[in-house]
Amino acid sequence: MQIAVVGAGIIGLTIAHRLAEEGHGVLVIAREGQPHCASTGNAGTIATYAVDPVGTPDVLRDLPRLLFNSDSPLAIHRPSALGLVPWLLRFARQSLPGRAQANRQALAGLLAGADADWRALAAAVGGADLLQDRGALYAYDTPEALAGAQVGMARRRGLGVAVDMLGAEALQALEPSLPEGRFAGAALFPGTIWLTDPATMLARIAAAGAERLTARVTALEPVGAGWRIGLATGEAVEAGAVVLAAGAWSASLLRPLGIRVPLTAERGYHLEFDGMVPLTRPFCPASRGFYFTPMQGRLRAAGTVELGGIDAPPSPHRWDRLEDAARSVFPDLPPPSRRWMGLRPSIPDSLPVVGTARKGLVLAFGHGHIGLTLAPKTAELVSRALDGEAPLPALSPARF
Ligand SMILES: Cc1cc2nc3c(=O)[nH]c(=O)nc-3n(C[C@H](O)[C@H](O)[C@H](O)COP(=O)(O)OP(=O)(O)OC[C@H]3O[C@@H](n4cnc5c(N)ncnc54)[C@H](O)[C@@H]3O)c2cc1C
Repeated sequence: MQIAVVGAGIIGLTIAHRLAEEGHGVLVIAREGQPHCASTGNAGTIATYAVDPVGTPDVLRDLPRLLFNSDSPLAIHRPSALGLVPWLLRFARQSLPGRAQANRQALAGLLAGADADWRALAAAVGGADLLQDRGALYAYDTPEALAGAQVGMARRRGLGVAVDMLGAEALQALEPSLPEGRFAGAALFPGTIWLTDPATMLARIAAAGAERLTARVTALEPVGAGWRIGLATGEAVEAGAVVLAAGAWSASLLRPLGIRVPLTAERGYHLEFDGMVPLTRPFCPASRGFYFTPMQGRLRAAGTVELGGIDAPPSPHRWDRLEDAARSVFPDLPPPSRRWMGLRPSIPDSLPVVGTARKGLVLAFGHGHIGLTLAPKTAELVSRALDGEAPLPALSPARF
């Protein structure tokens, strides 16, 4: 069967690679030069330990302060505020204790095994040299913050995540370039992996995968036993099945079909510092909401959240605040060499939408903060959906 995959981010390309390996005819359709795709500029972590949804009772308690302080790690894109109200109401509901715990358990189930899946994918596309496995660190500024983190870490352990708590000395021994005394300690997720260049990995998956058509998709329509995919050029492509993996842009293609999904963008930012790589593993100063990730020949500072603004230009003050946060750890960083913004496709319950929505139409988007991590798992679930398997209830397009 000929399958069209809409979207060439990490989700679309990993799906296309898997389906092509399984012997399907696959055509990837994606826009040219879409500037704010999430998959190239992310922090590169395969975050098997990221079992906490974004919405939790703690975040809910702090939400008003966080959202309306435009410098906090979680902020709102002010011009988008009104349109975000329905999404935020759903997010608030998903942040209540019972929902947050159910979402945490669903995330833990999805994340288990993501590192093994990634090793297999990297080996298959000749990308094993882009994986490192020295673990990742969440670091805490004060003894109180370190002590406060224990409850959440115990909860993670209960869900099968390996965590070692380190005091200031043990952290310094692991990362000797950190300014002495800057952090009270850290949580180490031992042995977890990261990508030292997500864009290069994406290019290798693309090269090992399917045929490609560069075009903007404007419509999806059922025709006969298959689907007609309308393009901005006025032309159309027909396929036996369609997989929609267009990241933050996916919901608008579903509205004309009567399928409504609460999808928004969590805009994230990065800065890169060439020539100075003072860390040996991904390192998150927890109060600042971003990671330093050692990339090939450069240090990337990537993260923070600005909700909304799918079609709006970046907010330059977010880069300035990210630079302030980076310099609060390493004051002597050189001026940034590059800056970037990308759109995390985000659903209020922090779970992606993966599964069949209509006969021959499979959805695969909404992976929020962990789309890189979950790409191989998503490809497996899409393959099973195309074989007729019902979606996992927690990910089902019918859950809204
Ligand atoms: C700052 C930051 C840090 C992050 N760090 C991590 C991390 O460490 N670990 C992790 O697991 N995840 C991380 N993430 C999240 C991860 O990057 C995303 O979840 C993931 O990249 C989403 O991939 P995607 O393929 O769904 O979307 P995208 O990469 O955005 O791709 C969307 C694709 O759809 C195409 N498209 C859109 N509209 C159309 C259309 N109409 N017609 C045709 N094509 C279209 C686009 O051109 C593009 O090819 C991070 C994200 C950010 C922003």
